Amino acid sequence: MSRTFLSQLTGSFSMPAAENPTVVMMEAAYRHHGLDWRYLNCEVTPALLADAVRGARAMNWAGFNCSIPHKVAVIDHLDGLGESAQIIGAVNTVVRRGDRYIGENTDGRGFIASLPQTFDCRGRSALLLGAGGAARAIAVELALSGIGQILVLNRDAGRGRELASLISGKTAASAEAMVWDGVKKIPQQVDLVVNATSIGLYPGVSACPDIDPDSLRPEQLVADVIPNPPETAFLQAAKQRGCTVLDGLGMLVAQGALALQYWTGVEVDRSVMRRELASVFDSTE
Ligand code: NDP
Repeated sequence: MSRTFLSQLTGSFSMPAAENPTVVMMEAAYRHHGLDWRYLNCEVTPALLADAVRGARAMNWAGFNCSIPHKVAVIDHLDGLGESAQIIGAVNTVVRRGDRYIGENTDGRGFIASLPQTFDCRGRSALLLGAGGAARAIAVELALSGIGQILVLNRDAGRGRELASLISGKTAASAEAMVWDGVKKIPQQVDLVVNATSIGLYPGVSACPDIDPDSLRPEQLVADVIPNPPETAFLQAAKQRGCTVLDGLGMLVAQGALALQYWTGVEVDRSVMRRELASVFDSTE
């Protein structure tokens, strides 16, 4: 076969973009799997998002990720949405299918993919701390994976209620919102607890969600969306109480791996991506 000099193009549109390390794990996966693909980290202002998507179409990009602040705004420039992106109302991965750009959301699916195989969502109950973009994506995917009940604990009451009614209205799961107005105990019936807030993210690494850690039970699976540091103060507290813990680095890697699979069709090696990303985070501490 003759050699080709035309690489497949993918990337990310966000602003600010300089501190987004996704490019490192994506390019590591391309190299590892011998794929002649590129991933470009692009800083795109909201005013020029439409032009950026037109540019991607013109250059026949295979797809791209959208990060802050484009996850909702990009929808107006696409040709359709996958099921969960439609319910979540946000897109983090755009996939070229034929000559159409379809919006998908791999954030919540990345979370599901990072769950231990022994954890079967069906009929279980989850407590979500937070009701922002990450919480919304996780709640929708948990519900689509068969979770029975979702409790949403959020500081802003309206935002919490909105997420609970989205889940109750658009999925088979039941959901209830509670206002987070002081230290809360974890309800005993909950099987999974997820910190989906930004509490504990570098450099605020000593911060911990306002819950009573002694209300955690060893049978509970405790997850954090914070990828940096991977072991947050919250996960340390849960570990000390005998809980199984799940870090946000696994979710970040898994959502990237799912995007790569959408674009290339290859089920990429997540350990290669995790190693590469962890080394970036180590060097920022
Ligand atoms: P949003 O701004 O959409 O939501 C932030 C959430 O955190 C809100 O529910 C907010 O509550 C809550 N919150 C923030 N500070 C506090 C506080 N001091 N006390 C109580 N609640 C608080 O952000 P995202 O959902 O997009 O992102 C949240 C985190 O998730 C980020 O740190 C991000 O890095 C991480 N993330 C990780 C991913 C991964 O793959 N690992 C993927 C996507 C995000 P309120 O509504 O009351 O303001």
